[in-house]
Amino acid sequence: MVTLQEPKYVFMGGGLRLWKEATLHVGCEAVTRSLNVFEGLKGYWKPDGPFGIVQLRRHYERLCRSARLLHVPFDAAFEYYRDAILQLAGELLEPGRDMWFRTTLYAIEGQWGEGTVADLVITAYHQDQKVPDPINLGISTWRRSPDVSLPARIKAGSNYQVARLARIEGRSRGCQDMVLLNDSGRVAEATGSCIVMVRDGVVYTPPASEGALESITLDIVEALAHSMNIPFIRRPIDRTELLVADEIAICGTLAELVLVQSIDGLPLNTKSQLLRTLQDRFFRAARNIEPHPSVELTTLSTKRDERSAIADLDSRAPAGM
Ligand code: PMP
Repeated sequence: MVTLQEPKYVFMGGGLRLWKEATLHVGCEAVTRSLNVFEGLKGYWKPDGPFGIVQLRRHYERLCRSARLLHVPFDAAFEYYRDAILQLAGELLEPGRDMWFRTTLYAIEGQWGEGTVADLVITAYHQDQKVPDPINLGISTWRRSPDVSLPARIKAGSNYQVARLARIEGRSRGCQDMVLLNDSGRVAEATGSCIVMVRDGVVYTPPASEGALESITLDIVEALAHSMNIPFIRRPIDRTELLVADEIAICGTLAELVLVQSIDGLPLNTKSQLLRTLQDRFFRAARNIEPHPSVELTTLSTKRDERSAIADLDSRAPAGM
């Protein structure tokens, strides 16, 4: 069973608060209408080196886009967002344990789009360093909602109601995650990650317009594939194509890159190893063992007294990547 950790602090109302005191009022739209937009970010330890948070600026930019699309005001500068995360990380970090951060804008004032005020709340959870085990993936009877109702492009908490239903469905079928098809019956994404598949040596993934979140991890995987001369193509994917794929993986910040061992009960071809190669390269880049220009790491000193010194590793993607 998944139980939520209760780390000592939460960033809320502009500063750190004790976990038990980080509460929302029952009358606010964040509670009554699930009005929140969020980002999940991942921080990795480099073996014997600093702790680095992946693509911080990209996450800030996507949070701004989600807020704009739902008319949730958010005018904090990137530096405020970054420093808030680093402040919380500085308090909670444990040597050798990676972290996942959830940065959420909760609507705490206003009704029906008038007088909306949002608060940036950051929670952080520890994670063990480990390459994820392959999973059984199913195809859900639930569908990803189209762009005209709950757009996948908006990373809002409310979008995960369907994902939750799909996971409940998957559990009874022995699946650790599920694929959501879009309203045309083509592959959209998994419940909290994107889908990549391999057919005849080419990696395919559906474009965001098929009902997937504009994934930051997918952009990294695409850049890694290009630099390894692995063809990577974004195009619609039929359900039956997924069922005959050589390889499948799910990919996202929290999921990282997880290989799929069966799809709807059908085992996958174990001879094809492209996604395993990409998975290995992904972790080497994220952990800064073998840096890659597509992975920007914002580092936090491992020593408490040096933590205020923030260093952005000089590993930004060149223009156009
Ligand atoms: N789709 C959904 C529904 C997700 O929740 C996520 C995780 N944020 C992704 C795709 C992957 O996005 P990213 O790589 O930016 O984490």
